[in-house]
Amino acid sequence: MYRDARLGVAELDVIVLVKQVPNTAEVKIDPRTGTLMREGVESIINPDDLHALEAGLRLRESHGGRVTAVSMGPPQAMDALREALGMGADAAVLLTDRAFAGADTLATSYTLGKCIRKLGRFDLVVAGHQAIDGDTAQIGPQVAEYLDVPQVIRATRLEVRDGELHAERTHEDGVEAVRCALPALVTVTREANKPRYPYIPRLMAAFDPNAPIKTWGPKDIGADERLIGLKGSPTQVQKTFTPKLEKKVEKLSGQPAEMARALVGRLKERRLA
Ligand SMILES: Cc1cc2nc3c(=O)[nH]c(=O)nc-3n(C[C@H](O)[C@H](O)[C@H](O)COP(=O)(O)OP(=O)(O)OC[C@H]3O[C@@H](n4cnc5c(N)ncnc54)[C@H](O)[C@@H]3O)c2cc1C
Repeated sequence: MYRDARLGVAELDVIVLVKQVPNTAEVKIDPRTGTLMREGVESIINPDDLHALEAGLRLRESHGGRVTAVSMGPPQAMDALREALGMGADAAVLLTDRAFAGADTLATSYTLGKCIRKLGRFDLVVAGHQAIDGDTAQIGPQVAEYLDVPQVIRATRLEVRDGELHAERTHEDGVEAVRCALPALVTVTREANKPRYPYIPRLMAAFDPNAPIKTWGPKDIGADERLIGLKGSPTQVQKTFTPKLEKKVEKLSGQPAEMARALVGRLKERRLA
């Protein structure tokens, strides 16, 4: 399965999951489907995914091999993959088709899983821990489940050694070291590294029509149309709205001890103390 370059044999095949997200808090909701309107909204690579890309590129630098970036999204998500090539990814796949639209995390994970299976052998899938729009942190674990491989979530440090993934996770009460056999899936947080900037000549080459970016639809990955997009989504967004933030200000007066007692009273009323 895993063979180390320094031993003069084949390298690591790393797949990085990259999501394009709206670069704004001012998201618009499609009143018909209750899902985000992504077309025409300025977009960026999901911040955690820049760290996932950086982690994949560093593994390739120490072991040799290939980094393939995969994204499911509207046609404009091509820009996120071009940026990934600009950073140093070797190839990319854009999963785009109206049939993929409105997918919840189950349908998204199925689609990404089918694509990874179609790409063939892999040693490691690297994803961001969380997307700033859906915010569920469900995709990494669900893709690992679909691929039936071990998963390490929220890694802050990772390396491949002796055929295994070695990673650290930071918790409130300390750092946990974990390891598992390859192939595996790992999600990374922003503490993991400092992403490099795209290298201009590589970024420009990514706009070349011959750039190594494939565009696949449901048929290309052999997807069951009942399991993708809105059709394949048991979770339907009933209603999405921006909650109105109401600020009520109350000024306490009197002696400090009196005010402190009154404050504790207010907090208790609101079950905050
Ligand atoms: C406001 C809002 C609320 C939502 N709530 C739910 C919900 O409660 N349940 C539900 O099932 N769906 C929900 N969705 C839909 C969900 O966002 C999509 O299914 C989405 O594709 C994946 O979930 P996520 O954004 O939470 O990603 P996370 O699980 O937070 O993403 C983790 C990582 O997975 C990878 N990844 C995620 N999406 C993609 C992609 N499209 N292409 C490539 N890599 C990807 C990235 O590496 C990312 O960092 C919601 C969407 C929105 C906008």
